[in-house]
Amino acid sequence: MPRPFKPAEVAEFFSRFAAQDPDPRTELAYINPYTLLVAVVLSAQATDIGVNKATAPLFRNVDTPQKMVELGEERLREAIKTIGLYRNKAKNVIALSKALIANHGGQVPQNREALEALPGVGRKTANVVLNVVFGEPTIAVDTHIFRVGNRTNLAPGKDPRQVEDRLEKIVPDKYKLHAHHWLILHGRYICVARKPRCPDCIVADLCRYGAKTPPPGATPEVEKKILKVAKTSRRAR
Ligand code: SF4
Repeated sequence: MPRPFKPAEVAEFFSRFAAQDPDPRTELAYINPYTLLVAVVLSAQATDIGVNKATAPLFRNVDTPQKMVELGEERLREAIKTIGLYRNKAKNVIALSKALIANHGGQVPQNREALEALPGVGRKTANVVLNVVFGEPTIAVDTHIFRVGNRTNLAPGKDPRQVEDRLEKIVPDKYKLHAHHWLILHGRYICVARKPRCPDCIVADLCRYGAKTPPPGATPEVEKKILKVAKTSRRAR
């Protein structure tokens, strides 16, 4: 079993991200709380780039729940048809827009329970909205954070909720607001799924992953050793 992180190591881990990128932002394009909520709902199992491509023309004309309901499900489907699962997402966006009008005066509520009661909105989406719109120190665990948490052994867990709970517990308060974006961006660009870019990683010395990608020019012996560790750790999982 890899060694768990000590509190000082967790603090060091996040202090490096804070130094590198003091004010990380979501890569989803939005213009107000409502369009952020819609963008996050559309981003499930899709890339931010793909979502932004579809929402750029959409949000130019449709930026409130009222306008979305007026647009209607059929035209919304057409506008987002390049995004995976678009049929179901269009249904949810229309339903959540109607619920916002009926129950929240057309506003996005600053309340987890109310957010999670909206169609198509789960814990992760609620966490993103609470964090980005309302500045709450929530940690939304997506596929990138789940991978980074487990791979580094910073926050191991069998499911996203376990990883979230672990991060909630160990991330120092002063890093909580941005922890979610630092980890997402790290997972998206450096600690990528297939071949993590370990030689470019600013937390490589703290990371417990046993099969780090070797630096360019590593000897075949080193590569072989790493491959062996990777196989063993895959078998152990
Ligand atoms: S050293 Fe490699 S595996 Fe560890 S966090 Fe960095 S990129 Fe990911």
